[in-house]
Amino acid sequence: MMLSIWWSVLASLGEGGQDFDQEAHIQESAQLLSSYLQVDTRAEKELDGARFLGEHLAAAGIPYEIDEYAPGRANLMAKLPGDGSGGGPVCLLSHIDTVDWEPELWEGGPGPLSGAIEEGYIWGRGALDMKGMGIVELQAFTALKRSKATLSRDVWLLAVADEEDGNGGAKRLVERWDELGCAYVLNEGGMGVQDLLFEGQTVYPISVGEKGVLWVRLVAHGEPGHGSTPVVERESPEHLIRALNKVRAHNEAQEPEWHPAMIELLNNVGQQRKGVEKLVLTKPAKTVLKGQLMDNPVIRASMTTTWHVTGLEGARAPNVVPGTSSAVLDIRLSPTTTADMALAELAALIDDDAVEIQVLSREEAAVSEWQEDPFYAALSRHIQADRPEVVVGPAISPGFTDSIYLRHVGARAYGLVPFDVSQEELAGFHGPKERVSVENLDRGVRWLIGVLEETCTLP
Ligand SMILES: [Zn+2]
Repeated sequence: MMLSIWWSVLASLGEGGQDFDQEAHIQESAQLLSSYLQVDTRAEKELDGARFLGEHLAAAGIPYEIDEYAPGRANLMAKLPGDGSGGGPVCLLSHIDTVDWEPELWEGGPGPLSGAIEEGYIWGRGALDMKGMGIVELQAFTALKRSKATLSRDVWLLAVADEEDGNGGAKRLVERWDELGCAYVLNEGGMGVQDLLFEGQTVYPISVGEKGVLWVRLVAHGEPGHGSTPVVERESPEHLIRALNKVRAHNEAQEPEWHPAMIELLNNVGQQRKGVEKLVLTKPAKTVLKGQLMDNPVIRASMTTTWHVTGLEGARAPNVVPGTSSAVLDIRLSPTTTADMALAELAALIDDDAVEIQVLSREEAAVSEWQEDPFYAALSRHIQADRPEVVVGPAISPGFTDSIYLRHVGARAYGLVPFDVSQEELAGFHGPKERVSVENLDRGVRWLIGVLEETCTLP
């Protein structure tokens, strides 16, 4: 089902005029996010979120389109045109959908749809993932319009449905890539994690790439039988267990890959340290850090191809030996490993004709250039600003977002959410008590306005 509506809006409607007060505009952001969080945008309700954003674009005199590509699932698209002298379009991307929640985990505090502003925080499902960023982008986008700046390139605001389940919204953007042709995409990704490696230091990993994905089912075939009489050699569970043990051992044996992004990030961290720490972190060969890095599950995942058994299927009853037993694997591919390479590796590893490999889903890893890229440099410099405790650097994300699809069609996508967060705040990501501070939100809007002024406007 397709429904495309262009809303023509009188250019004068609600436009700020000469007297645009940027600081007042920024301070409206918390209220705006509060209202956005009160709109339930779980799966198949994204249309309501798109309409919410659309109303605020209309108030700023910006035409927009709501593309309802499936019932209830809609993308919002709006463009501020530029003269093209500055290069291809810069696209500000967020996803409208949020994950669900467990109500009992939110008891005793503001609820997931409350949008409550309390104790300096705005509370609700999506505050971090990723309606907060959606509001940062909306506010910077409308500020650009209201400031009446002349743009050197097109700037798009894109808010999409279905990031969390099937990436349907992003795939829809790919279908319409002729209209968009984003040179750059700014999307979710790294946040400023406080005390990540050293106390007092906040590290912003800008996601410049994402690992690939290979989901497979291993189906072991064997002779059905009775549980009372083991003939294990011929039984499907036995074949499966052997295969899975090999997969687990293979995962354990992975050696770290020193991607240039990781080397640069560690260098940047080291530049802000002193003595031995600085010496070790900024050394070209970082093998001395191997143990420490590989002990951290997130860092380990970003430096290896991971072979992960995530589910088992096939049991019927304790006394029944099933003819087939199966397991699912979530294999995440480092940028040097293609899905075909991993499949060949897996087949050679298992080396058993009784175990069949079925591919459920595959997506190749994708990395955007970042070295000497002016847009990346602006994102990085403006987030660091004059804050000595903040370190910024490129990173390969272990998980994937909508960016992976847009990199495959040629965009340079960077993932960065401009919020400094503690480990405790990070726990709200897909978890209970999700919130973002008003300070983070306001600083985020200021950051993006600065980036867009530098990279998308004419003097
Ligand atoms: Zn997200």
